[in-house]
Amino acid sequence: MTVALGAAPPKPLPIIVKPIVDELLSSWLRRTAHVYTTTAVDVLAHFGIVWPDPLRQADFAQSARIKARLAWGLRTTEARIHRAGHPVPAWRANELVAIDIPFSRCAACEQTWSSTSPALRPYSRSWYEAWRVKCGFCGRPFHLGASSSPPNPDAVLVTDRLWRDAVHGSELFERYLLGHPCGWLPPRLIWSLASIPVRRRHRLQMAFELIVPEASAPTFGMRQETCVTTCRTINPFRRVGMMAAVQRFNQDPRGWLRKFSSSATVAGRTAIARLLSTLPDAIAGSMRGDAPLPAGAPGYLCQAVEAHQIRLKLAVNLGQIRDFCTELNVNAPHNPVESLR
Ligand SMILES: [Zn+2]
Repeated sequence: MTVALGAAPPKPLPIIVKPIVDELLSSWLRRTAHVYTTTAVDVLAHFGIVWPDPLRQADFAQSARIKARLAWGLRTTEARIHRAGHPVPAWRANELVAIDIPFSRCAACEQTWSSTSPALRPYSRSWYEAWRVKCGFCGRPFHLGASSSPPNPDAVLVTDRLWRDAVHGSELFERYLLGHPCGWLPPRLIWSLASIPVRRRHRLQMAFELIVPEASAPTFGMRQETCVTTCRTINPFRRVGMMAAVQRFNQDPRGWLRKFSSSATVAGRTAIARLLSTLPDAIAGSMRGDAPLPAGAPGYLCQAVEAHQIRLKLAVNLGQIRDFCTELNVNAPHNPVESLR
């Protein structure tokens, strides 16, 4: 993305609409532009910021210079501008931030703003971020389906404990995306552990049903055979279950691993062993309980695991490239490249 930064106007805007907590930058710009009966793109151009379009790009990581210019023009701080964008760098957000159609809908907010002109309706970051479980504006749980549909008689009641764990799990997930302390394992590994088959009372289940038993109802979509490794889902119940699993696992990783292992089927035990083999030795050992906790803050174990996995992947890729080159060398004399003409 190329953003041209031209000359700044002599003064910041005289009137700025107050941003709402968790409001997206694009939404805030659009509402401010409405005061001047102009468009957000024109407001940006007035600040000397020429974005290729569309405006939604403003919500993704911007350079420090752009942030400083926006903070000056909107009479606020760079930290406030930063908070109005998605907190995650684009490479990290991979598939976790919706571009056009939000992942989640808030029936309460839709109701509140239903009589307001679209140009004045604020948009929340939370609606576009796959790891959020509640609306950033009103704090209510996300809704399944359209707000205009009649209330569902089979509405799912979520226990206080499940909800609290899901909210904490969602915050933990955001810390993971930001590279802050976030527990033992990257969330996708927790979910792949929780997706292993276990046998309980002669019934085949998924480990999800051990760690989040409240979420085993079909509405939560946790009974699917497929391995769950991303929270990108339009089913808010499923997301609640996944985030609660992250929180609970991190509270007692060794305890949960023991419970999963003792109930796992043969395939489940193989999957656990495979997963442990991809962790750094010190962490795998302490998770099995046969080594002490690695020195240093346990909060950053998650990052250590991730760095180790990236190294493993790179080693595999390099190996493949080497094999490919060897093959090319071997075949080259017998298989000369044909002329392009
Ligand atoms: Zn809301």
